[in-house]
Amino acid sequence: MVQPYKHEPFTDFTIEENRQAYLKALQTVEGYLGQDYDLVIGGERIATEDKIVSYNPSNKEEVIGRVSKASQDLAEKAMQAAVEAYKTWKKVKPEVRADVLFKAAAIIRRRKHEFSALMTKEAGKPWREADADTAEGIDFLEYYGRQMLALKNGVPVQSRPNEFNRYDYIPLGVGIIISPWNFPFAIMAGTTVAAIVSGNTVLLKPASTTPVVAAKFVEVMEEAGLPKGVLNFVPGSGSEVGDYLVDHKDTRFISFTGSRDVGLRIFDRSSKVNEGQIWMKRLIAEMGGKDTIVVDSEADLELAAQSITAGAFGFSGQKCSACSRAVIVEDVYDQVLNRVVELTNQLTVGDPTEQATFMGPVNDNNAFKKIMEYIEIGKNEGKLMAGGEGDNSKGYFIKPTVIGDLAPKARIMQEEIFGPVVGFTKAKNFDEAIEIANNTEYGLTGAVITNNRAHMEQAREDFHVGNLYFNRSCTGAIVGYQPFGGFNMSGTDSKAGGPDYLLLHMQAKTTSEMY
Ligand code: NAP
Repeated sequence: MVQPYKHEPFTDFTIEENRQAYLKALQTVEGYLGQDYDLVIGGERIATEDKIVSYNPSNKEEVIGRVSKASQDLAEKAMQAAVEAYKTWKKVKPEVRADVLFKAAAIIRRRKHEFSALMTKEAGKPWREADADTAEGIDFLEYYGRQMLALKNGVPVQSRPNEFNRYDYIPLGVGIIISPWNFPFAIMAGTTVAAIVSGNTVLLKPASTTPVVAAKFVEVMEEAGLPKGVLNFVPGSGSEVGDYLVDHKDTRFISFTGSRDVGLRIFDRSSKVNEGQIWMKRLIAEMGGKDTIVVDSEADLELAAQSITAGAFGFSGQKCSACSRAVIVEDVYDQVLNRVVELTNQLTVGDPTEQATFMGPVNDNNAFKKIMEYIEIGKNEGKLMAGGEGDNSKGYFIKPTVIGDLAPKARIMQEEIFGPVVGFTKAKNFDEAIEIANNTEYGLTGAVITNNRAHMEQAREDFHVGNLYFNRSCTGAIVGYQPFGGFNMSGTDSKAGGPDYLLLHMQAKTTSEMY
């Protein structure tokens, strides 16, 4: 029997042995920088002339790896491999499918620091953030494996005398997995294995800035015994190969995590029925956020300031759950804002390979430029209280930035910046604070810092977000404990790491037999 699910613990880097292990893992990764990685189609490795070059965002001269790039022809070949493999994979017993995930989790657990160190280099994740990303990926493997075991006999339905009714879940077909760079391991691996363990075959198109960690994960799945053609690896340009696969008549579903704009484009394109297509495509989309921490007047204000600072600047604010808005009841506004400024000014920004670094770089030059533009907008819309400076001479570094005194409808308070910028606004009272918290088009995460039980219950009902937290920050959901996903423009209301997530990759079949 499998052990009950328990989430993967985070590494304590104050223990010397762990610290040394991470340094060694960084060396291991340094040892293979700049290598080439192939596409994997039907188990066959294919190298292309055209490559995606992955750079270190802390040091733009350093090449992490060169990954072959799928053309439309190769995407078509991968689709045919997935269609073929589906014929057999869908018949493999759920227990056997789950075992592949459990073995992959074990392999990754043994190489945990290597995966994390690779993200420190490829995505600029500081140690703790990278460690959490790897732990979450392991959690997805362990959790979805167990979820499949729980679903393998369907769910009971009633039968009348002389009748036997069954209600079983069967897979959908070929899925396209499109993942973002900000959780280059956890989200990429989690969305891929949820589809696979449910009996589908997939084409994985990772984000173009973090394809190497995805290539390493594909190797692990092969080592864990996944048959050829079940997971096809097709890195490539979103607009070229992404559109092609989304439009393809054989695509049965798309599992996308990324920005609102790309999500809406996929929503639109996937709704068209193309020639030869005999189904309506299913779309699972996890999109952006504009996440708020509300601070009540009756609250632990030190906890509030700590929660805002950690939520806003962990991984340079590049989490869909990041706290990018702080809405503070006016009696305590100055106190909370000033304390956040103090805490922000203590944060260290720099090379994420150094253990002491709290914040590394932002993702790339596009992200750098966009965030710096938003900081300029913020200076006009409100008052710059901390940070505001960037330096892209070596890598893409931006100081953690606090902008105060913003109107609730200011652009800084409405648009997803996806960087280390938090905006503050004042509310007259708690009712108004919740109103402001709800006034964006997103609905992903939120937090309320309050000691008032009635206000907590009011927020539980009225604060319209998929993940609502009390007296803690709005980041850091754990698989199986806080299933994750948002409302409105944050996506299709799915919950990754939750008890009903696999069902999104399956369809229910009723059978009825008369005796
Ligand atoms: P993105 O620009 O939307 O890219 C996401 C993925 O979509 C990448 O693999 C990208 O490929 C691909 N893509 C781009 N154009 C496409 C097209 N026309 N058709 C198909 N695929 C296409 O997002 P990102 O910058 O990587 O990630 C940050 C965003 O993700 C933020 O908005 C964040 O809030 C959101 N996010 C949401 C969640 C959640 O659970 N709700 C979790 C993490 C991140 P290329 O890299 O080749 O362009």
